[in-house]
Amino acid sequence: MDSAGPGFYWLVLASAVASGWLIAWFGYSRKLKNTDFDLPSAYFKGLNYLLNEEPDKAIEVFVQVLEVNSETIETHLALGNLFRRRGEVERAIRIHQNLMARPALSNEQRSLALMELGRDYLKAGLYDRAENLFQELTEDRKQGREVLLSLLQIYEYEKEWKQAIEIANKLSVVDHKPMNDIVAQYHCELADAAITSGDLKAAGKLARQALSADHACVRASLIIGNIEAELSNHREAIKAWNQIGEQDAMFLGEVAEKVRDSFVALDDKEGLVDFFQTALDKHKTISIMQAMSGFISKEQGQTAAEKFVIEWLRKKPTVHGLYRLLDLRLEKQGAEMDNDLVLLRGMIGELKKEHEGYVCQNCGFKGKVMHWLCPGCHKWNTIRPLSGE
Ligand SMILES: [Zn+2]
Repeated sequence: MDSAGPGFYWLVLASAVASGWLIAWFGYSRKLKNTDFDLPSAYFKGLNYLLNEEPDKAIEVFVQVLEVNSETIETHLALGNLFRRRGEVERAIRIHQNLMARPALSNEQRSLALMELGRDYLKAGLYDRAENLFQELTEDRKQGREVLLSLLQIYEYEKEWKQAIEIANKLSVVDHKPMNDIVAQYHCELADAAITSGDLKAAGKLARQALSADHACVRASLIIGNIEAELSNHREAIKAWNQIGEQDAMFLGEVAEKVRDSFVALDDKEGLVDFFQTALDKHKTISIMQAMSGFISKEQGQTAAEKFVIEWLRKKPTVHGLYRLLDLRLEKQGAEMDNDLVLLRGMIGELKKEHEGYVCQNCGFKGKVMHWLCPGCHKWNTIRPLSGE
Protein backbone atom coordinates (compact mmCIF):
# COMPACT_ATOMS: atom_id res chain seq x y z
CA MET A 1 0.00 0.00 0.00
CA ASP A 2 2.79 2.39 0.93
CA SER A 3 4.38 2.06 -2.45
CA ALA A 4 1.20 3.00 -4.32
CA GLY A 5 0.88 6.51 -5.67
CA PRO A 6 -1.29 9.13 -4.00
CA GLY A 7 -3.99 8.68 -6.68
CA PHE A 8 -4.36 5.03 -5.81
CA TYR A 9 -4.42 5.84 -2.12
CA TRP A 10 -7.24 8.33 -2.45
CA LEU A 11 -9.17 5.93 -4.64
CA VAL A 12 -8.94 3.31 -1.90
CA LEU A 13 -9.93 5.88 0.71
CA ALA A 14 -12.91 7.08 -1.27
CA SER A 15 -14.08 3.54 -2.03
CA ALA A 16 -13.57 2.50 1.59
CA VAL A 17 -15.72 5.39 2.64
CA ALA A 18 -18.23 4.73 -0.11
CA SER A 19 -18.63 1.04 0.70
CA GLY A 20 -18.84 1.78 4.41
CA TRP A 21 -21.30 4.47 3.66
CA LEU A 22 -23.43 2.23 1.45
CA ILE A 23 -23.65 -0.45 4.11
CA ALA A 24 -24.40 2.19 6.68
CA TRP A 25 -26.83 4.05 4.56
CA PHE A 26 -29.05 1.06 3.87
CA GLY A 27 -29.22 0.15 7.52
CA TYR A 28 -29.46 3.74 8.53
CA SER A 29 -32.18 4.72 6.13
CA ARG A 30 -34.23 1.70 7.27
CA LYS A 31 -33.95 2.62 10.93
CA LEU A 32 -33.88 6.39 10.91
CA LYS A 33 -36.21 7.64 8.25
CA ASN A 34 -36.71 10.94 10.01
CA THR A 35 -33.07 12.08 9.86
CA ASP A 36 -32.25 15.25 7.99
CA PHE A 37 -28.57 14.31 7.48
CA ASP A 38 -28.06 14.10 3.77
CA LEU A 39 -25.61 11.22 3.29
CA PRO A 40 -25.20 11.25 -0.50
CA SER A 41 -24.53 14.98 -0.64
CA ALA A 42 -22.00 14.68 2.22
CA TYR A 43 -20.27 11.91 0.32
CA PHE A 44 -20.12 13.94 -2.88
CA LYS A 45 -18.97 16.96 -0.93
CA GLY A 46 -16.10 14.88 0.43
CA LEU A 47 -15.31 13.52 -3.00
CA ASN A 48 -15.22 17.07 -4.33
CA TYR A 49 -12.69 18.07 -1.74
CA LEU A 50 -10.59 15.08 -2.74
CA LEU A 51 -10.72 16.00 -6.40
CA ASN A 52 -9.74 19.57 -5.54
CA GLU A 53 -6.81 18.14 -3.60
CA GLU A 54 -8.09 19.30 -0.26
CA PRO A 55 -7.71 16.02 1.62
CA ASP A 56 -7.99 17.56 5.10
CA LYS A 57 -11.47 18.89 4.42
CA ALA A 58 -12.44 15.66 2.69
CA ILE A 59 -11.42 13.63 5.72
CA GLU A 60 -13.44 15.78 8.08
CA VAL A 61 -16.51 15.28 5.91
CA PHE A 62 -16.00 11.53 5.60
CA VAL A 63 -15.38 11.05 9.29
CA GLN A 64 -18.56 12.97 10.04
CA VAL A 65 -20.53 10.83 7.61
CA LEU A 66 -19.10 7.67 9.06
CA GLU A 67 -19.83 8.70 12.60
CA VAL A 68 -23.55 8.58 12.02
CA ASN A 69 -23.84 4.83 12.25
CA SER A 70 -22.11 2.20 14.33
CA GLU A 71 -22.22 -0.25 11.42
CA THR A 72 -19.39 1.68 9.80
CA ILE A 73 -16.88 0.66 12.44
CA GLU A 74 -15.01 -1.61 10.01
CA THR A 75 -14.63 1.31 7.63
CA HIS A 76 -13.40 3.49 10.46
CA LEU A 77 -10.78 0.92 11.32
CA ALA A 78 -9.74 0.52 7.67
CA LEU A 79 -9.47 4.29 7.27
CA GLY A 80 -7.38 4.65 10.41
CA ASN A 81 -5.06 1.87 9.26
CA LEU A 82 -4.64 3.49 5.89
CA PHE A 83 -3.52 6.71 7.53
CA ARG A 84 -1.12 4.93 9.85
CA ARG A 85 0.44 3.05 6.99
CA ARG A 86 0.81 6.30 5.10
CA GLY A 87 2.66 7.72 8.11
CA GLU A 88 -0.21 10.10 8.96
CA VAL A 89 -0.30 8.86 12.52
CA GLU A 90 -2.04 11.85 14.09
CA ARG A 91 -5.00 11.35 11.81
CA ALA A 92 -5.09 7.64 12.52
CA ILE A 93 -5.07 8.39 16.26
CA ARG A 94 -7.93 10.85 15.87
CA ILE A 95 -10.05 8.34 13.98
CA HIS A 96 -9.37 5.50 16.40
CA GLN A 97 -9.91 7.68 19.46
CA ASN A 98 -13.14 8.86 17.95
CA LEU A 99 -14.14 5.22 17.59
CA MET A 100 -13.19 4.41 21.17
CA ALA A 101 -15.44 7.17 22.44
CA ARG A 102 -18.57 5.39 21.22
CA PRO A 103 -20.56 3.78 24.01
CA ALA A 104 -22.28 1.33 21.65
CA LEU A 105 -19.16 -0.72 20.83
CA SER A 106 -19.29 -4.46 21.45
CA ASN A 107 -16.42 -5.99 23.42
CA GLU A 108 -14.86 -7.36 20.28
CA GLN A 109 -15.11 -4.04 18.46
CA ARG A 110 -13.62 -2.28 21.46
CA SER A 111 -10.66 -4.68 21.49
CA LEU A 112 -10.09 -4.12 17.80
CA ALA A 113 -10.16 -0.35 18.21
CA LEU A 114 -7.85 -0.53 21.23
CA MET A 115 -5.41 -2.66 19.26
CA GLU A 116 -5.37 -0.20 16.37
CA LEU A 117 -4.96 2.78 18.67
CA GLY A 118 -2.09 0.96 20.39
CA ARG A 119 -0.42 0.47 17.00
CA ASP A 120 -0.88 4.17 16.25
CA TYR A 121 0.78 5.13 19.52
CA LEU A 122 3.59 2.69 18.86
CA LYS A 123 4.22 4.19 15.45
CA ALA A 124 4.07 7.70 16.90
CA GLY A 125 6.68 6.72 19.51
CA LEU A 126 4.21 7.23 22.38
CA TYR A 127 5.39 4.08 24.13
CA ASP A 128 3.82 4.69 27.54
CA ARG A 129 0.38 5.13 26.07
CA ALA A 130 0.80 2.14 23.77
CA GLU A 131 1.98 0.02 26.69
CA ASN A 132 -1.12 0.88 28.74
CA LEU A 133 -3.44 -0.09 25.92
CA PHE A 134 -1.63 -3.35 25.15
CA GLN A 135 -1.55 -4.27 28.83
CA GLU A 136 -5.35 -3.96 28.83
CA LEU A 137 -5.44 -6.41 25.95
CA THR A 138 -3.09 -9.13 27.24
CA GLU A 139 -6.01 -11.33 28.27
CA ASP A 140 -7.71 -10.98 24.90
CA ARG A 141 -7.52 -14.33 23.17
CA LYS A 142 -7.83 -13.17 19.60
CA GLN A 143 -5.25 -10.40 19.83
CA GLY A 144 -3.00 -12.23 22.30
CA ARG A 145 0.03 -12.93 20.14
CA GLU A 146 0.01 -9.58 18.42
CA VAL A 147 -0.29 -7.81 21.79
CA LEU A 148 2.66 -9.72 23.24
CA LEU A 149 4.82 -8.94 20.20
CA SER A 150 3.99 -5.25 20.51
CA LEU A 151 4.71 -5.22 24.23
CA LEU A 152 8.04 -6.93 23.60
CA GLN A 153 8.91 -4.26 21.07
CA ILE A 154 8.06 -1.54 23.62
CA TYR A 155 10.05 -3.11 26.46
CA GLU A 156 13.08 -3.62 24.23
CA TYR A 157 12.90 -0.02 23.13
CA GLU A 158 12.55 1.23 26.70
CA LYS A 159 15.20 -1.21 27.91
CA GLU A 160 12.78 -2.67 30.46
CA TRP A 161 14.50 -6.02 30.38
CA LYS A 162 12.67 -7.65 33.30
CA GLN A 163 9.33 -7.04 31.65
CA ALA A 164 10.79 -8.18 28.34
CA ILE A 165 11.77 -11.51 29.92
CA GLU A 166 8.26 -11.94 31.28
CA ILE A 167 6.64 -11.22 27.92
CA ALA A 168 9.11 -13.40 25.98
CA ASN A 169 8.28 -16.32 28.28
CA LYS A 170 4.57 -15.82 27.65
CA LEU A 171 5.15 -15.51 23.92
CA SER A 172 7.12 -18.74 23.77
CA VAL A 173 4.14 -20.52 25.36
CA VAL A 174 1.72 -19.00 22.83
CA ASP A 175 4.01 -19.83 19.90
CA HIS A 176 5.12 -23.23 21.25
CA LYS A 177 8.61 -22.05 20.38
CA PRO A 178 11.37 -21.37 22.91
CA MET A 179 12.98 -17.92 22.92
CA ASN A 180 15.86 -18.93 25.17
CA ASP A 181 18.59 -17.24 23.17
CA ILE A 182 16.74 -13.91 23.33
CA VAL A 183 15.82 -14.30 27.02
CA ALA A 184 19.54 -14.91 27.68
CA GLN A 185 20.33 -11.62 25.92
CA TYR A 186 17.85 -9.81 28.17
CA HIS A 187 19.60 -11.27 31.22
CA CYS A 188 22.92 -10.09 29.76
CA GLU A 189 21.49 -6.59 29.29
CA LEU A 190 20.55 -6.62 32.99
CA ALA A 191 24.03 -7.90 33.85
CA ASP A 192 25.67 -5.09 31.86
CA ALA A 193 23.48 -2.54 33.64
CA ALA A 194 24.54 -4.02 37.00
CA ILE A 195 28.21 -3.74 35.98
CA THR A 196 27.67 -0.09 35.05
CA SER A 197 26.19 0.59 38.48
CA GLY A 198 29.15 -1.19 40.10
CA ASP A 199 27.29 -4.24 41.41
CA LEU A 200 29.55 -7.02 40.13
CA LYS A 201 27.96 -9.66 42.35
CA ALA A 202 24.48 -9.05 40.93
CA ALA A 203 25.96 -8.87 37.43
CA GLY A 204 27.61 -12.27 37.83
CA LYS A 205 24.36 -13.78 39.03
CA LEU A 206 22.45 -12.34 36.07
CA ALA A 207 25.05 -13.57 33.57
CA ARG A 208 24.77 -17.06 35.06
CA GLN A 209 20.99 -16.84 34.66
CA ALA A 210 21.63 -16.03 31.01
CA LEU A 211 23.75 -19.16 30.70
CA SER A 212 21.10 -21.33 32.28
CA ALA A 213 18.56 -19.93 29.79
CA ASP A 214 20.93 -20.56 26.89
CA HIS A 215 24.13 -22.61 27.33
CA ALA A 216 25.42 -21.28 24.01
CA CYS A 217 25.26 -17.63 25.10
CA VAL A 218 28.73 -16.28 24.23
CA ARG A 219 27.92 -12.90 25.72
CA ALA A 220 27.22 -14.42 29.15
CA SER A 221 30.60 -16.24 29.17
CA LEU A 222 32.28 -13.02 28.12
CA ILE A 223 30.64 -11.08 30.96
CA ILE A 224 31.43 -13.74 33.58
CA GLY A 225 35.07 -13.80 32.46
CA ASN A 226 35.28 -10.00 32.61
CA ILE A 227 33.82 -9.92 36.11
CA GLU A 228 36.15 -12.63 37.41
CA ALA A 229 39.17 -10.89 35.89
CA GLU A 230 38.07 -7.62 37.47
CA LEU A 231 37.97 -9.42 40.83
CA SER A 232 41.44 -10.86 40.07
CA ASN A 233 40.03 -14.41 39.92
CA HIS A 234 42.03 -15.07 36.77
CA ARG A 235 41.63 -18.86 36.75
CA GLU A 236 37.85 -18.47 36.88
CA ALA A 237 38.02 -15.80 34.20
CA ILE A 238 40.01 -18.05 31.84
CA LYS A 239 37.59 -20.90 32.52
CA ALA A 240 34.62 -18.73 31.52
CA TRP A 241 36.30 -17.36 28.37
CA ASN A 242 37.45 -20.83 27.41
CA GLN A 243 33.79 -21.84 27.11
CA ILE A 244 33.44 -19.51 24.13
CA GLY A 245 35.53 -21.93 22.06
CA GLU A 246 32.76 -24.50 22.50
CA GLN A 247 29.87 -22.03 22.20
CA ASP A 248 31.00 -20.24 19.05
CA ALA A 249 34.70 -20.19 18.26
CA MET A 250 34.25 -17.17 15.95
CA PHE A 251 34.05 -15.06 19.10
CA LEU A 252 37.33 -16.28 20.60
CA GLY A 253 39.01 -13.22 19.16
CA GLU A 254 36.91 -11.06 21.46
CA VAL A 255 38.76 -12.51 24.45
CA ALA A 256 42.16 -13.50 23.03
CA GLU A 257 43.98 -10.54 24.56
CA LYS A 258 42.09 -10.78 27.84
CA VAL A 259 43.01 -14.47 28.15
CA ARG A 260 46.63 -13.59 27.49
CA ASP A 261 46.57 -10.84 30.13
CA SER A 262 45.03 -13.16 32.72
CA PHE A 263 47.69 -15.83 32.12
CA VAL A 264 50.34 -13.13 32.41
CA ALA A 265 48.75 -11.94 35.68
CA LEU A 266 48.94 -15.53 36.93
CA ASP A 267 52.55 -15.71 35.68
CA ASP A 268 51.58 -18.94 33.93
CA LYS A 269 53.40 -18.85 30.59
CA GLU A 270 53.11 -22.59 30.14
CA GLY A 271 49.37 -22.39 30.61
CA LEU A 272 49.19 -19.56 28.11
CA VAL A 273 51.11 -21.39 25.39
CA ASP A 274 49.03 -24.46 26.05
CA PHE A 275 45.77 -22.54 25.84
CA PHE A 276 46.61 -20.79 22.59
CA GLN A 277 48.15 -23.86 20.99
CA THR A 278 45.00 -25.87 21.74
CA ALA A 279 42.78 -23.02 20.55
CA LEU A 280 44.80 -22.67 17.33
CA ASP A 281 44.75 -26.41 16.62
CA LYS A 282 41.03 -26.54 17.18
CA HIS A 283 39.73 -23.32 15.68
CA LYS A 284 42.45 -21.66 13.54
CA THR A 285 41.08 -18.27 14.57
CA ILE A 286 42.94 -15.22 13.27
CA SER A 287 42.70 -13.24 16.47
CA ILE A 288 44.18 -16.13 18.43
CA MET A 289 47.11 -16.14 16.01
CA GLN A 290 47.52 -12.38 16.48
CA ALA A 291 47.48 -12.56 20.28
CA MET A 292 49.85 -15.52 20.26
CA SER A 293 52.33 -13.87 17.88
CA GLY A 294 52.33 -10.78 20.11
CA PHE A 295 53.15 -12.91 23.10
CA ILE A 296 55.93 -14.83 21.31
CA SER A 297 57.41 -11.60 20.01
CA LYS A 298 57.58 -10.24 23.55
CA GLU A 299 58.91 -13.42 25.13
CA GLN A 300 61.20 -14.87 22.46
CA GLY A 301 61.77 -12.01 20.05
CA GLN A 302 60.58 -11.09 16.57
CA THR A 303 62.34 -13.88 14.72
CA ALA A 304 60.50 -16.54 16.73
CA ALA A 305 57.21 -14.69 16.26
CA GLU A 306 57.84 -14.47 12.51
CA LYS A 307 58.53 -18.18 12.38
CA PHE A 308 55.27 -18.80 14.19
CA VAL A 309 53.29 -16.59 11.78
CA ILE A 310 54.91 -18.17 8.70
CA GLU A 311 53.96 -21.61 9.95
CA TRP A 312 50.45 -20.39 10.55
CA LEU A 313 50.26 -18.82 7.08
CA ARG A 314 51.26 -22.10 5.50
CA LYS A 315 48.26 -23.75 7.14
CA LYS A 316 45.89 -20.86 6.66
CA PRO A 317 46.87 -18.18 4.14
CA THR A 318 45.02 -14.96 5.00
CA VAL A 319 45.56 -11.22 4.60
CA HIS A 320 45.54 -10.87 8.39
CA GLY A 321 48.43 -13.33 8.69
CA LEU A 322 50.35 -11.61 5.92
CA TYR A 323 49.82 -8.22 7.51
CA ARG A 324 51.03 -9.50 10.86
CA LEU A 325 54.16 -10.92 9.23
CA LEU A 326 54.96 -7.61 7.51
CA ASP A 327 54.33 -5.86 10.79
CA LEU A 328 56.82 -8.06 12.61
CA ARG A 329 59.40 -7.62 9.88
CA LEU A 330 59.08 -3.84 9.94
CA GLU A 331 59.32 -3.86 13.74
CA LYS A 332 62.55 -5.81 13.44
CA GLN A 333 64.03 -3.46 10.85
CA GLY A 334 63.21 -0.51 13.08
CA ALA A 335 64.51 2.82 11.83
CA GLU A 336 65.97 1.44 8.59
CA MET A 337 62.57 0.99 7.09
CA ASP A 338 62.22 -0.70 3.79
CA ASN A 339 59.97 1.56 1.70
CA ASP A 340 58.73 -1.31 -0.45
CA LEU A 341 57.77 -3.21 2.64
CA VAL A 342 55.90 -0.20 4.03
CA LEU A 343 54.05 0.15 0.72
CA LEU A 344 53.18 -3.52 0.67
CA ARG A 345 51.95 -3.39 4.23
CA GLY A 346 49.73 -0.42 3.34
CA MET A 347 48.18 -2.36 0.48
CA ILE A 348 47.63 -5.46 2.54
CA GLY A 349 46.22 -3.21 5.28
CA GLU A 350 43.58 -1.92 2.85
CA LEU A 351 42.64 -5.48 1.93
CA LYS A 352 42.52 -6.41 5.58
CA LYS A 353 40.02 -3.65 6.32
CA GLU A 354 37.43 -5.50 4.25
CA HIS A 355 37.73 -8.41 6.65
CA GLU A 356 37.47 -6.47 9.87
CA GLY A 357 34.63 -5.47 12.13
CA TYR A 358 31.28 -7.16 12.50
CA VAL A 359 28.54 -8.10 10.10
CA CYS A 360 24.88 -9.08 10.49
CA GLN A 361 24.11 -12.45 8.95
CA ASN A 362 20.50 -11.40 8.50
CA CYS A 363 20.58 -7.91 6.93
CA GLY A 364 24.25 -7.33 6.11
CA PHE A 365 24.67 -4.41 8.55
CA LYS A 366 28.39 -3.78 9.07
CA GLY A 367 29.87 -2.10 12.11
CA LYS A 368 33.16 -1.48 13.85
CA VAL A 369 31.92 -2.55 17.28
CA MET A 370 30.00 -5.61 18.39
CA HIS A 371 26.21 -5.27 18.73
CA TRP A 372 24.21 -8.12 20.20
CA LEU A 373 21.03 -6.54 18.85
CA CYS A 374 21.43 -5.58 15.21
CA PRO A 375 20.82 -1.83 14.70
CA GLY A 376 19.84 -2.60 11.10
CA CYS A 377 17.20 -5.32 11.39
CA HIS A 378 16.62 -5.34 15.17
CA LYS A 379 17.29 -9.03 15.53
CA TRP A 380 19.29 -10.57 18.35
CA ASN A 381 22.32 -12.82 17.86
CA THR A 382 22.71 -12.18 14.15
CA ILE A 383 25.97 -10.20 14.21
CA ARG A 384 29.32 -11.96 14.09
CA PRO A 385 32.96 -10.88 13.94
CA LEU A 386 34.44 -10.90 10.46
CA SER A 387 37.95 -11.56 11.70
CA GLY A 388 36.83 -14.74 13.44
CA GLU A 389 37.30 -16.74 10.28
ZN1 LIG B 1 20.72 -7.12 10.92
